[in-house]
Amino acid sequence: MSEPLKVFLDEKEMPRQWYNLQADLPHPLPPPLGPDGKPVTPDMLARVFPMSIIEQEMSQQRWVDIPEPILEKLALWRPSPLCRARNLERALQTPARIYYKNEGVSPAGSHKPNTAIAQAYYNKMEGIERLTTETGAGQWGSALAFACRQFGLQCRVYMVRISFDQKPFRKFMMETWGAECVPSPSTNTEVGRKILAETPDSPGSLGIAISEAIEDCVQSENTRYSLGSVLNHVCMHQTIIGLEAKKQLEKIGVEPDILIGCAGGGSNFAGLTFPFLCDKIHGKDMRILAAEPAACPRMSRAPYVYDSGDVAMMTPLLPMYSLGHTFIPPPIHAGGLRYHGMAPLVSLAAREGLIEAHALPQLECYEAAVLWARTEGHIPAPETSHAIALAIREARRAQDEGKERVILLNWSGHGLMDLSGYHAYFSGKLTNYVMSDEEMAKSLKCIENLPKPPPLR
Ligand SMILES: *Cc1c(COP(=O)(O)O)cnc(C)c1O
Repeated sequence: MSEPLKVFLDEKEMPRQWYNLQADLPHPLPPPLGPDGKPVTPDMLARVFPMSIIEQEMSQQRWVDIPEPILEKLALWRPSPLCRARNLERALQTPARIYYKNEGVSPAGSHKPNTAIAQAYYNKMEGIERLTTETGAGQWGSALAFACRQFGLQCRVYMVRISFDQKPFRKFMMETWGAECVPSPSTNTEVGRKILAETPDSPGSLGIAISEAIEDCVQSENTRYSLGSVLNHVCMHQTIIGLEAKKQLEKIGVEPDILIGCAGGGSNFAGLTFPFLCDKIHGKDMRILAAEPAACPRMSRAPYVYDSGDVAMMTPLLPMYSLGHTFIPPPIHAGGLRYHGMAPLVSLAAREGLIEAHALPQLECYEAAVLWARTEGHIPAPETSHAIALAIREARRAQDEGKERVILLNWSGHGLMDLSGYHAYFSGKLTNYVMSDEEMAKSLKCIENLPKPPPLR
């Protein structure tokens, strides 16, 4: 036990400011566009988001203060531990050192409450009484349900139908925190009713659920909408992960060579990596890797385009890597990674060549998850297993090259509510989905006539 296996921070050492990557990216983000093809104004967003969130979304300020009431709530589980996966290293016989930031210790079991708490707080401060949102695998819905309870807000969650059926326990968590959880597509909204009329057994998608949650929001009194990933302010709220990790690594005098996160909408990846990306932009040598499912390859295969965040095109057009907003993902178990788009900030960093994206097949990820559970103990979420599988690839490469590398991965959440996926894996029922070029071309048809982002200069 010469080197520490865990590094804790005192509550008083929690970061007091979030980091905003917009201040440091070599090129500015292309603006979000409205239906008329012109940049959206804050006023246009005011019906769905509180003003303080809209300001953060557009802010170029490098450091943004975290209000005291938010820090107080985050302290229910933060700072989260930074751990070394020594047992896994031994099992792999790798010379690499593998560290992970454990975001599974939050009440909802993932990184998502980091932004849910912040968003609930800002809505409360502006007198909002109710939030609507969508959820894929249920992690975001449960995180927002928890956060709304902390600040006394009502909460309705539209949950993608296939996950609603596969993962009822997430719904029970939301109900325990006092939120309402509805399977999407639903009969509550016009877009839901339309889809059900065409496809009564629709498995749903995040894009559909977003449309429903926004429609519910604009049709209801004193209600705002909340998004759990993708947007700039969400990525910023998550940077507390990377800022803590930096302090923890400094305590033990370790510098990472390789950073890894799984990427669904991009927020946990952004959270861990953006504070380090700042150093990379300013000349530090390190590799930053995003793990995507081979079934939904955005940064690893799709084009950089303007696309809508939802199927009914209710959101502004965002500049991002996208499979097209009508994309219906295959039923892989990593529900939180099945989105068609990618955070504009993460997308731009990828376009600038600052980060690498890798597509991983489902079975390799489950194999990695099981190895992790049998060595490190904690059972990872299927999303997290993508980061683990990529870390294992890199650890094996370090072994082949005889290099002593330091790998830091974001352990985005536990899989205790996702055990049916593990059961399906052990029963031999899971297969590898890899998106074909034909499927990709078909899926991209819907964006053909949308505006194109400017080339990088
Ligand atoms: C939601 C989720 C993800 C994917 O979402 P991002 O916005 O890409 O972070 C990854 N891991 C876990 C555990 C999640 O709950």
